[in-house]
Amino acid sequence: MTDTFDIAIIGGGIVGLATAMALSENQHRSIVVLEAEDDIATHQSGHNSGVIHSGLYYTPGSLKAQLCVTGREDLYQFCETHDIRHEQCGKVIVATTDEEAARLEGLRARGEANGLAGLKILSPDEVREHEPHVTCRGGLLVPDTGIVDFAAVCRAFAEVLTSRGAVIRLSSPVSSASQDGTRITINTTSGSLRSKLLINCAGLQADRVARKCGYRPAVRIIPFRGEFDELAPEARHLVRNLIYPVPDPRVPFLGVHFTRMIHGGIEAGPNAVMSFNRHGYRRWSFSARDTLGTLIYPGFWKLAARHWRTALQEWHCSISRRASWERLRRLIPDLREDHVRRGRTGVRAMAVDHNGMLVDDFRIARDNRIIHVLNTPSPAATASIAIGRHIARFAGGDTPESH
Ligand SMILES: Cc1cc2nc3c(=O)[nH]c(=O)nc-3n(C[C@H](O)[C@H](O)[C@H](O)COP(=O)(O)OP(=O)(O)OC[C@H]3O[C@@H](n4cnc5c(N)ncnc54)[C@H](O)[C@@H]3O)c2cc1C
Repeated sequence: MTDTFDIAIIGGGIVGLATAMALSENQHRSIVVLEAEDDIATHQSGHNSGVIHSGLYYTPGSLKAQLCVTGREDLYQFCETHDIRHEQCGKVIVATTDEEAARLEGLRARGEANGLAGLKILSPDEVREHEPHVTCRGGLLVPDTGIVDFAAVCRAFAEVLTSRGAVIRLSSPVSSASQDGTRITINTTSGSLRSKLLINCAGLQADRVARKCGYRPAVRIIPFRGEFDELAPEARHLVRNLIYPVPDPRVPFLGVHFTRMIHGGIEAGPNAVMSFNRHGYRRWSFSARDTLGTLIYPGFWKLAARHWRTALQEWHCSISRRASWERLRRLIPDLREDHVRRGRTGVRAMAVDHNGMLVDDFRIARDNRIIHVLNTPSPAATASIAIGRHIARFAGGDTPESH
C-alpha cells in the first residue's frame, strides 16, 4: 500500500527542515521530509560561513530584509532553548578606501531602515579597539551579527520535528511528482507516496525538481563555489570576531571576510567562482549535465557579459595563492602569505532569470498543490525559522485541514 501524508517536503536542508518544523506546530498533520542524501544538511546548509546575519544589507521591505531580521532573533532564541553553541559577537565592516568610507553611512541608513539597533560609524582608531590588526579609513559596527554551526541547528530542527511525529526519509531522491484532484503522487528511487501538499525545498536542485513536478520555473540555478581559506594557528590572534569589507554594490556577494568559527579557528572567504558541478566541492569537479545546463541557458550568457571582469578576478584569486592573500591583506596588513592555507568549500545556488539577472530576493512560487522554493540564498540559514513560518502561511488555504 502507498504511504499517504498530509504534507511532503523535498529537501532536508535548513529551509526544508524549518518549513517542516513550522508546519508541525499543528501536530494533527502527518509530515514527511524526503532527502536525497544519506544525511541532512549535506549541501549548502552544512557548507556555509556560519554567520548569523543581522539583516543590514537587504533592500528595506524585501522578504530578505524582513525574514532575516525576525529569523535572526528566532534563531538566537532557538539556540538558547535548545542549548546550541552560538555567540552574538558582532562584526565590523571596514572601509579601506575613501570611496568605501563614503558608503558606510548609506549602509548604516539601510540597516536602520531594516530595524537594526546599535549601528555605529567608527573612526580608524575606534575600529582598532575592536580589531587591533585592521588598517582602514573607517568602519561600521554591527552588534546584532553572530556565529553558529548551522549543521547543528539542522540537527536540532530534525529532533523537534521527529519528536512531533514527523518522518525524515533519507536516501530518498524525488524523481517525479504529479497532481491529480486532491492528491499528489511523489516518486522516489525507493518507492512512491501520496500527499495533499508538496513543498520543494531542494536548494541547488530546486529548478530541476520543479520541472520534475511539471512546473516550468522562470529561473535557472547556476552553482557558484565558495572557497574558504584557514588562518594558521599562529595568525589567529589577528582576528577577534568578524571582519567584513564594504560590499561592492555591483556584485551580489558580500566579499571575502574573516570569520571566527564557533568551534574555533578563523576562516577567510568565501570567494565566488562559477562551478561546473552543482555538488562540486573540489576545484576541478565537473558534471557534463550541470555544465551543459548552464551553457545552454541564455540567461547565463547575459549574466557573463555583465560580470566577466569580476568572474576573472575570482578565478585568479581561486588559482593564485598570492592573489588571494593580497586581497585579504587589504584588511589586515600583518597577515603573511604563509599564514593562509586552503580550507573547505561550499556551493551556492544562485537563481538567474532569462535576462541574466541574479534573483536578489527569496522567491517562492505555487503551482496548485505544489509550492516551489526557488531562491533561498544567504541569509536563508539565518532566516530559516522565519522562512519556514512564511512558507507555512504561504501554503495558507492549501494546508490539508482547510479541505
Ligand atoms: C559558501 C556559503 C556560505 C554561506 N554563508 C551563509 C551564512 O554565513 N549565513 C547564512 O545565513 N547563510 C549562508 N549561506 C546560505 C545558506 O547556507 C543557504 O541559503 C541555505 O543553507 C539554503 O538552505 P536550503 O535548505 O534551501 O538548501 P540546501 O541546504 O542545499 O538543502 C537542499 C536539500 O535538498 C536535497 N535535495 C535536492 N534534490 C533533491 C531531490 N530530488 N529529492 C530529495 N532531496 C533533494 C539536497 O540533498 C539538500 O539536502 C551560505 C551559503 C554558502 C554556499
